[in-house]
Amino acid sequence: MSGARVKRVGFIGLGNMGGPMCSHLLAAGFEVSAYDLDAAALARLRDAGARAATSARDCARQAEALITMLPAPPQVEEVLLGTDGVIAALEPRALVIEMSTSSLAVGRRAREAASARGIDLLDAPVAGQSIGARAGTLAIYVGGEQHAFERARPLLEAIGDPQRIFHVGGAGAGYTVKLLLNLLWFIESVAAGEVLTVGVRAGVSLEQLHAALVGSPANSNFLEHDVRSVLDHGDYDEAFPMRLVTKDLGLAVELARDVGMPVELTALVEQIHRRARARYGDDAGEISAIRLYEELAGVELRLDR
Ligand code: NAD
Repeated sequence: MSGARVKRVGFIGLGNMGGPMCSHLLAAGFEVSAYDLDAAALARLRDAGARAATSARDCARQAEALITMLPAPPQVEEVLLGTDGVIAALEPRALVIEMSTSSLAVGRRAREAASARGIDLLDAPVAGQSIGARAGTLAIYVGGEQHAFERARPLLEAIGDPQRIFHVGGAGAGYTVKLLLNLLWFIESVAAGEVLTVGVRAGVSLEQLHAALVGSPANSNFLEHDVRSVLDHGDYDEAFPMRLVTKDLGLAVELARDVGMPVELTALVEQIHRRARARYGDDAGEISAIRLYEELAGVELRLDR
């Protein structure tokens, strides 16, 4: 099985990200078994041509490669290693591609169990939001062995942008890169909230301030593009909810702790996002930290005002 091109794929976790990712595999001609606890999500993929599996193990049956796209480490651990866990059910020499944003610790435990059965496991989290999942333009950061990466490549190319599939290192490197790029983005959203509200309270027009910052050495992708959904539409981007933001920040703090790095800024930024989640709810949009600053300042940051 190891050298042959993968044809039969199992896919577990058909939510905002996994649903469209799985559809791309069907469109590319793979034979897909799909599974999700949510019957409506499963029905959507069955209608698109997947076999609807009755359990995680049933999904793994006969799969040459199995992809998981689950909310957080506990679900990843349960699906890979729990009582209905797929690693025990896959054929030896199968390939597991774990694409959730998850923890290195769960990744290590899964890899040990997989390698004891002769199964390759890659960590391959993604960036690009649900809009990128639907468009097939996700960036993918892969950790694991070269031969497993080569085997996974046709599947990853069906799911993401072939120019932005990065083999970033050995086991766990994909999770590490993904957690750090999210961390930087979440730091930038807090920083932008502070800077923009202080400037507006100081009497500078939001339009002038934003344009000056974008044209300055302090510009960032966040400032130039992502924050525009708040400034233009009051949209805090619910496609990525605060429950996932705070999960990712917790994992970033854990990562820093694991490597013995003090990260005072990360810890503070995590707490600010946790405050935003407590204030606006689990499903509030990922830029909700800026809303905290708007409330404190008594201003709405909108370019049309
Ligand atoms: P989601 O909550 O929309 O989907 C997760 C799916 O997993 C749900 O359909 C749920 O029913 C299913 N599920 C949970 N436990 C299960 C189990 N034990 N067995 C089978 N199915 C189970 O989440 P999402 O937005 O698709 O995110 C998935 C992962 O991708 C997360 O780790 C997230 O951090 C990451 N991610 C999300 C985005 C985004 O913009 N939403 C972007 C990049 C990465």
